[in-house]
Amino acid sequence: MARLRFWPAGPDRDERPDRPFTGYKLAHAVLSADGTQTGFAGLTLGATHVYGVVAEASCIWNHRHAPPRRWCGCGFYCLHELTDARSLGCATENRAALLIEVTASGQYIRYERGLRYSRQRVRAILDAQCACGRPGTALADGGSGLIGWRHLAPVCPTCAAGRPALTLTEFTARLDGNVRVAPLLSAGPLSPDMLSGTMTGSITGTGTGTTAGAADAMAAMEESPIAILTAEIALLHARLDDLQSRLERG
Ligand SMILES: [Zn+2]
Ligand SMILES: [Zn+2]
Repeated sequence: MARLRFWPAGPDRDERPDRPFTGYKLAHAVLSADGTQTGFAGLTLGATHVYGVVAEASCIWNHRHAPPRRWCGCGFYCLHELTDARSLGCATENRAALLIEVTASGQYIRYERGLRYSRQRVRAILDAQCACGRPGTALADGGSGLIGWRHLAPVCPTCAAGRPALTLTEFTARLDGNVRVAPLLSAGPLSPDMLSGTMTGSITGTGTGTTAGAADAMAAMEESPIAILTAEIALLHARLDDLQSRLERG
């Protein structure tokens, strides 16, 4: 696994960006117990925390500091590259996650492949994949959840047949702000390209999406999927490296 270094970001002070950053990440879609609200939940560190379209990070370990604290793992994470986020989505445990585009702002710490930051706005849902390999155009009960929230899993029209499901538009309509849904790339049968690992499913073109998502997805399809690494884990390694160097200095 690649070793990551901190960007030269100044000695001890975290950065505050002049403008929001665009990033990509995975999140589970969730539906409230009464079915009226939707949101997102993290995969690992933030798995028990449901967030809406605009969210402020809070530390899950220590309420006395504001994320992201350098010697803590708190804050939101995102990746700079869509392809890295898509690679992360190939991992078994992440298959049911949505790939979303966010803008990051507030306090942040920059890593080689991503950011850890304090404020987030979800902009778009770019990818959702049915377990059968087709694009997931709707969300059905994922069979797991949190207190008050059900996890949703993307399903294609074929696999959704007869099951209660929310279309992605219905999902975004229940969010607490506007999130666009990327236009459909292809909903055809499995092609060799898809089996090779890119699995570039996209979502039915509902809502007011631009073609940017599709262009990105096409670009990603042309990239080799060989360099698969779990970038979220890599970010954590970067944090550990930082801690190590601090211990060595001390
Ligand atoms: Zn913290
Ligand atoms: Zn399916």
